[in-house]
Amino acid sequence: MEQGKSLTEVLGIVASEMQAHLGHGRVADYIPALAKIDPRQFGIVAASCDGQVVAAGDADMAFSVQSISKVFMLTMALEKLGGALWRRVGKEPSGSPFNSIVQLENERGIPRNPLINAGALVVTDALLARGDPAALIDGFVEFMRDRANDESVSIDSEVARSEGETGFRNASLANFLKAFGNIHSDVNDVLRVYFHQCALRLNCRQLARAGLYLAHCGVDPVSHAKVTTAQRARRINALMMTCGHYDASGDFAFRVGLPGKSGVGGGILAIAPGRASIAVWSPGLNEWGNSHVGVLALERLASLTGWSVF
Ligand code: GLU
Repeated sequence: MEQGKSLTEVLGIVASEMQAHLGHGRVADYIPALAKIDPRQFGIVAASCDGQVVAAGDADMAFSVQSISKVFMLTMALEKLGGALWRRVGKEPSGSPFNSIVQLENERGIPRNPLINAGALVVTDALLARGDPAALIDGFVEFMRDRANDESVSIDSEVARSEGETGFRNASLANFLKAFGNIHSDVNDVLRVYFHQCALRLNCRQLARAGLYLAHCGVDPVSHAKVTTAQRARRINALMMTCGHYDASGDFAFRVGLPGKSGVGGGILAIAPGRASIAVWSPGLNEWGNSHVGVLALERLASLTGWSVF
């Protein structure tokens, strides 16, 4: 930690420096229910493996996790299916936007990785396995309540509905995947689950808590719940590092040096293995669909703490 600063001091510095940047970036107005959110908000929480929780800014404001849900659904899918999942989805960075369809044609319906929309739809389908979408949505909420250690965690049904009404690209991706035989369930059931998982609401405190198992070899260091194996936790972190920020994943690795997953709700979950799980939120997005201020804040946090996987 720089000059012996405490984590509380570091987060205070980051939060005050970020004030000058608030308002930059655009909210995700392609989802109508997210278009009305004030971009001038910022929250950050670091939950450490030794049980410390440090917060600054709007740490208790709930937001739509959007694509951050992909990390948790991937964890659930790996627990259910193990390595067989990798026959249906790759592990390579895409270098393309989150909702891109172009690679799917050439690569015959095998998405590059589970953290882009196409890959996440396959993961959702693998978990659904022609079952009941409502039961999978409930199972996901249950999983997230356990991870966040908070029974109040829930889905914003207005956001889910709003995305359902306007998610034509996701519907195209799902139908395209179905045409290649890489969606097994009914396309509408898969989309329904996907839109609901994205519409989960968490605040930074809950999100940081939820990600702790990834900082601690797959085991929640507070509840001692074994969420996944150490090897899977390492692999999920590797995918977050290489694919967690879409076509800006290299830039995020370069600037922050930690595994991270962004969502168009403006949240980012970053993992400092062996140390902490960090959640940051600010709704204004940069041109790659990642939180403009969130990335800046994590860059400062990493530099002030010295946390890095490199
Ligand atoms: N629900 C969003 C979509 O599918 C998620 C995208 C994101 O958060 O990056 O468009």
